[in-house]
Amino acid sequence: MTETTRKGLNYPWDTPPDTGSAIEVADGVLWMRLPLPMALDHVNVYALDEGDCWTVIDTGFDSGRTRAIWQRLLDGPLGGKPVSRIIGTHHHPDHIGLAGWFQSMGATLWATRTTWLFSRMLMLDAQDRPTPETLAFWQQSGMDPAILAKRREERPFNFADVVHPMPVGFQRIQQDDVIEMGGRSWDVHIGNGHSPEHAVFFSRDDNLVIAGDQILPSISPNIGVYATEPMADPLAEWLEACERFAELARPDHLVLGGHKLPFTGMPTRMCQLIDNHHGALKRLLKHLETPQTAAGCFPPLFKRRIGDSEYGLALVEAVAHLNHLMHLGQVTREMSPDGAWLWQTSRA
Ligand SMILES: [Zn+2]
Repeated sequence: MTETTRKGLNYPWDTPPDTGSAIEVADGVLWMRLPLPMALDHVNVYALDEGDCWTVIDTGFDSGRTRAIWQRLLDGPLGGKPVSRIIGTHHHPDHIGLAGWFQSMGATLWATRTTWLFSRMLMLDAQDRPTPETLAFWQQSGMDPAILAKRREERPFNFADVVHPMPVGFQRIQQDDVIEMGGRSWDVHIGNGHSPEHAVFFSRDDNLVIAGDQILPSISPNIGVYATEPMADPLAEWLEACERFAELARPDHLVLGGHKLPFTGMPTRMCQLIDNHHGALKRLLKHLETPQTAAGCFPPLFKRRIGDSEYGLALVEAVAHLNHLMHLGQVTREMSPDGAWLWQTSRA
């Protein structure tokens, strides 16, 4: 979630497609955008021409507005041909939100097993108030008491509120698969850290990389720890995946990501994505010479004021960095009298 410089990257299109229209970024590959009601206000989706039908990569949230835009896209740039296949790069609702809607119209869903299982699990996990486990997790993370009190009484963000019901049945994709789409063969590589078992596709026939949120320009993908798995170390998984993708990266790769603009300069971007976190971890270790809660770690991590709309994402990202340092043995933590973990640089 950190804005980074554009240095070393090239953006062949400096303006995204207008709502309801598409830009052809390569032969038979259309780039489209759908709005999101959040600070990050859009998601990119792509359609690959299969002759008499389309493969669509990611879908946007399920809302009346998004479905209406999709109808315009289907009738307009997609020329009335059906969508035969949806590829879900990962389980986040802005990507998987309308997979079930397309399935109800005859499409097959292709995704990793974890993407599908997580989506189906979260679909069934609608809550009217935050669970006791989530409230405890927030308290232990040092969430601002006023924000905690407010959230305790509110309906939380529910996956099922923005994702269309998903029927049983999908086709699994996994590491080292080679799949055909849009007249090209694609190697499947699996990322982690932003979302577990996140699919990325490298074309064997040209320079295209379909990256979802695993590789983004100008913002670094959110890495978060949640009450679901409070001891998780997604940052270790993120760094492992980035180093693997850095080996595959070519300067001429055209990276088609889930947000912001398509870009070339992937080797540079992979270095930036790795270095961002090493820099943040270094600043964090210095900051933790005095004990701090996770919420007390925003200044060294983000170097800017965190507003209400991004507080939740900032908190889970702070815990991710702290858990990583704990798993490396570089910080320890102790429970404070008011029930928040206080983190401190190890005295070794
Ligand atoms: Zn995502």
